[in-house]
Amino acid sequence: MGPAPLILGNVGIVAEDVEAVRSATDLVALVSERAALRRVGRRWVGLCPFHAENTPSFSVNAELGVYYCFGCHAHGDAITYVRETEHLDFAGAVEHLASRAGMALRYDAYGGPGEARAGAKKKAELTEVLERAIEWYHERLLSAPDAAEARKYLRGRGYDGRTVRHYKLGWAPAGQGALSRETGISVELLEAAGLAHRGPYGGVVDFFKERVLFPIYDAAGRPVGMGGRILPGGEGPKYKNTQATALYDKSRVLYGLNWAKSAVVERGQAVVCEGYTDVIGMHGAGVAEAVATCGTAFAEGHMKLLSGFARRIVLAYDADAAGQGAAERVYEWEKRFQVSMFVAELPAGSDPADLARSSPELLRKCVAAAVPFLAFRLQRHFCGADLSTPESRARAAEAALAMVAEHPDALVRDQYLMQVADRCRLPSAELRALRVARPRRGAATASPPASREKVPPPEMEALRLAVHSPEQVAGRIDAEFFSSGLARSAYEALAGAMTLHEAMDAATTEVAGLLSELAASDVEANPDDVVRRLLDRAALRALSDLERSARAVEGSGAEREAELASRATALRLALEELRSLEAGPGQGERLARAEEHLLRLLRT
Ligand SMILES: [Zn+2]
Repeated sequence: MGPAPLILGNVGIVAEDVEAVRSATDLVALVSERAALRRVGRRWVGLCPFHAENTPSFSVNAELGVYYCFGCHAHGDAITYVRETEHLDFAGAVEHLASRAGMALRYDAYGGPGEARAGAKKKAELTEVLERAIEWYHERLLSAPDAAEARKYLRGRGYDGRTVRHYKLGWAPAGQGALSRETGISVELLEAAGLAHRGPYGGVVDFFKERVLFPIYDAAGRPVGMGGRILPGGEGPKYKNTQATALYDKSRVLYGLNWAKSAVVERGQAVVCEGYTDVIGMHGAGVAEAVATCGTAFAEGHMKLLSGFARRIVLAYDADAAGQGAAERVYEWEKRFQVSMFVAELPAGSDPADLARSSPELLRKCVAAAVPFLAFRLQRHFCGADLSTPESRARAAEAALAMVAEHPDALVRDQYLMQVADRCRLPSAELRALRVARPRRGAATASPPASREKVPPPEMEALRLAVHSPEQVAGRIDAEFFSSGLARSAYEALAGAMTLHEAMDAATTEVAGLLSELAASDVEANPDDVVRRLLDRAALRALSDLERSARAVEGSGAEREAELASRATALRLALEELRSLEAGPGQGERLARAEEHLLRLLRT
């Protein structure tokens, strides 16, 4: 990649600056913000931030600035890391790292359509407006005389000063236009941020009045909106949330994810509740992986967002709401996003926020005892079912089977069918016969992602050497010496680039993954051995190629046959020479000569 500007999405950041940000970033320090790393040899290892695991398989090469997970194969550099952990696009990730390093970025003239850049600028402006508004509301709650009632209410719900500060709770006073008047933010900006608008008579109308405010942040911790709860006895709906703005889309935002995400990643699961106070209660009770939808049902956008953090989603809703309808959608999500949906059954009539305060232990137990979505529906069904007579048991079984039939996986269906048979004291064979055929499209089971082409160990070693110490292999090996196509592409990518990052940027995902993996592991073998083993294998392959050619030309001309035979003999002798020397110590110079001789033959 030369000095030409990179076109990155809609915003062009000068390539030189991208490079500068990348090299200014300490990848180990960056990863350490989320996962504990310890030094092993030249690498740093720890639990993978991208998948749940108990033994560390995440590896960082600090010098090369590359990470690789031997478990889930996540890989990349500081920019990829920020893209994936903060859910940002390329330019956003570079900006994030630049601000972390206190560096200014230059944008080039090809920075995409002006609108897109203006859009990014507008969003940044709205974020700032929200930050200032949140701060102002927060200060009101902490100290304004008119917030006394709100403070009393929060104390009564068990919120101490630390909780109020941690969640940046606020108080929106009564009256009109206070926010704009006291912060000096223009009505136009407040309107764009969903905080106020101009009334029919020209006055400013605040969106939140006499409410306790819960700021809502995106996963990266940037404010996007707010939710307001009325005090007991107040007027209007109990909860009121920011309406749709350029920053806020309720079907893609989960309250609390910014605080919960490290626990979500660590525990491999997210607990989804219904409201702000549920999340705060759950966090207080030790369920640190709790998040909430904001005044809306759990939607596909939420699912998509969470699937980037955990594979297990636990719904901790009111039991009736959790079990209702939507089964088909749940199974579809499970398949599409590769997640498993569970339901935590809470004691009837209790809400998580109350339970968190009265019996945190019980709340944790309920979450830990969450069952798969289908199991939960069946439990609920049998709870209310009459199983006293053969007739009623048959009816209950039929209704249960209809639920089972909705599940797309035949193996799963069959296991639940046996449970239903047990519950209703019916022979499972008969239930199978009676089973309702699944009404929807075929039950294709999810296939694991296509596994990568297997690279032979000696070729892996040679590539690893090429990544870590290119000077050791320069001039000594060629791309053609690799039998694996993937390894050959990887070597070509390295040979055609100035740096590892340049090679990775230009390579396919598969090749870039292989390069990261190699960079994140140590070279253990002796470089000379590695190079010679590769030459040895290449020579054997060349010999069998020569033999095949010899058979093909048999009888077609003595001259051609003789030529092939003499090449084969020369190659065989050179190979034997190299092997015999390898056995003996102190053969440095002769060995180098033998290697060079073989290399020359291989190249002709
Ligand atoms: Zn991993």
